Amino acid sequence: MACPCCGEKLYPYGKSKLEEVASKYSLPILGRLPIDGKLSGLVDDGKIEEVEGEPLDGAITVITA
Ligand SMILES: [Zn+2]
Repeated sequence: MACPCCGEKLYPYGKSKLEEVASKYSLPILGRLPIDGKLSGLVDDGKIEEVEGEPLDGAITVITA
């Protein structure tokens, strides 16, 4: 999540421990979903396929491999 005023990266839930957990269990990191009203709106409307950009690319690569 980026500050709408200055673009500074914000961590409303604290810094991610994704790498730490993934490497502990030898799991691939499939993606990171930004906190973004546009994204959550698409998900709420059942239109996740219309999400643009890279957040799900890692998951798609694994699913379609
Ligand atoms: Zn700011």
